Amino acid sequence: MSTSSKGAARQTAFLFVALIAAIATGQWLFAQGGSISGFWQLAGDYLLVRPLQMLVIPIVFLSVACGIASVGKPATLGRLGLGTVILYVLSMLIAASLGALLIEAFAPGVGVAPETRAALMQQATQDFTSDATRVQRMQDAQSTGVGGAWLNILSQIVPRNPIKDMVEGSTMAAIFSAILLGLGLAAAGDRGKPALDLFQSLLAGVMHVIGWILWIMPIGLFFFVTGVVAKIGLQNVATPVLGYMAVALAGLAIHAFIILPIYCSVFGGGNGWTLLWNLRRVFLTAFSTSSSNATLPVTIDSCIREGGCSKRATNFCVPLGATMNMDGTALYEAVVVLFLFQLFGVDLGFSEIVVVVLTSVLAAIGAAGIPSAGLVTMVIVISAVNATTAGRGIEPLPIAAIGVILGVDRIVDMSRTVVNVWGDCVVAKIMTRVAPDEPEAAS
Ligand code: ASP
Repeated sequence: MSTSSKGAARQTAFLFVALIAAIATGQWLFAQGGSISGFWQLAGDYLLVRPLQMLVIPIVFLSVACGIASVGKPATLGRLGLGTVILYVLSMLIAASLGALLIEAFAPGVGVAPETRAALMQQATQDFTSDATRVQRMQDAQSTGVGGAWLNILSQIVPRNPIKDMVEGSTMAAIFSAILLGLGLAAAGDRGKPALDLFQSLLAGVMHVIGWILWIMPIGLFFFVTGVVAKIGLQNVATPVLGYMAVALAGLAIHAFIILPIYCSVFGGGNGWTLLWNLRRVFLTAFSTSSSNATLPVTIDSCIREGGCSKRATNFCVPLGATMNMDGTALYEAVVVLFLFQLFGVDLGFSEIVVVVLTSVLAAIGAAGIPSAGLVTMVIVISAVNATTAGRGIEPLPIAAIGVILGVDRIVDMSRTVVNVWGDCVVAKIMTRVAPDEPEAAS
C-alpha cells in the first residue's frame, strides 16, 4: 500500500469512527430533551461544511477547464461529453422508474383512514409553513412549473455574466464557462499552453489544500452529525410515513448495491462492487454533509486515488455529475410524489406515472447539490401531475402535502446524496476508458 493510499485508508477509518460516535452522542443529547444548543452544528459548519464549500467553485472551474483542454482531441471530447450526459440521464431514468415501481407495488399510502389522513395533513401544513424561505422557493417553482424548470437550467448553461454567477456559487455556470474556456485553450494550441499550465498548477495547489482539509474533516463531521441527530433524533413517525421511508430507503439501497454496480460492469467500468468498496470515504462524506457539492473535493480526490479513474474523466464527469446527475434524488422524487397521491386517495393511471418519472428526472437535474434541494424541486413534479389530473376533474394535490414527509426528510436526504454521488463515480469510471490519462499524467 502506497503512503497516500495508507493516508486515505486512515482518513476513512477516522470518518467512520466519527460518524458512529456522532450518532451515539446526538441520540444521547436528543434523549436528554430540552433545546439543543446551536453550538454543535455551528462547529461542524466551520470544520466540515465551509472548508469543503470554499473549494467547490475553484475546483469545479479548474478541474473542468484542465480536463477539457488536456483531452484536446475533438473526437474524444465529443465521445466523453455525449457519453457522460447519456449515461447520466439513463441512470436517472432507471432510478426514477425503480422508485415508481416500488412505491406502486408496496403502496404504503393506499387505504389510510380518513381521520389519519386529516391529522397528517394538519401536521403537514404546520410543518410546511414553518420555514418561510422554503415556502417562498416552492411557490416560485410552482408558479413557473415545468417550463420554468427548463428555463432555469438553460439560464445557468448560458449565463449572462458567468463571473457574477460563479461568485454567487453557481456550479453550473462554472462548469459551462470552464468547458468553453477549456475548448478555447485546446484550440489555441501552443498559445493556450501557458494558461493551461497555470490552471494545472493552481489545480495541483488546490488538491493539496483538499488533502489538508481531509484531515480535519472527522472532527467537523463529529460536530455536524451530532448536531443533526440531536435535533431530529429517532422520532415517533406515523405508520404510512414509515412505510414511505422504508420504500425510499430500500429503493436507494437496491439502486446503490445492485443496479449501479451492474451498470458499471455493463458499460465497461469493471467490477462495480469493488469500486463501491474502494470509494467508501466519499460515501461517508456525502452521508454526513447531505450535499453533493460539499462532497465534490473528496469525490475527485477519491476517484483518482482509490477508484482507479483517470484524472481526465474524473475532472470532467464528477463536477458535472455533482450538479446534474442525481439518481438518488430522481428516485426519491418519484417515490414521494406517488406516495402523496396515494395518501390523498388519487389513483394515477399509467401515463400519469410516466409523467412522474420524466418530471422526477427533470427535477433531479434542476436540484442543486445542497441539502434539501430535492424537496424544493419536487413542486415541479407535483405541478406537472396536477396539470394532467385536472383533465379528469380531480382536485389538485396541495403543495403543503409535502409537509407529510418533512419530519423524516433529513435521513432520506443523507441517503439519497450518497446515491447521487455514487452515480457520478460510476460514470467517471466508465468514461476512464474513453479518456484515459497519458502515461506521464497518470502519476
Ligand atoms: N442533497 C442532495 C445532494 O446534494 C440533493 C437533494 O436534496 O436531493 O445531492
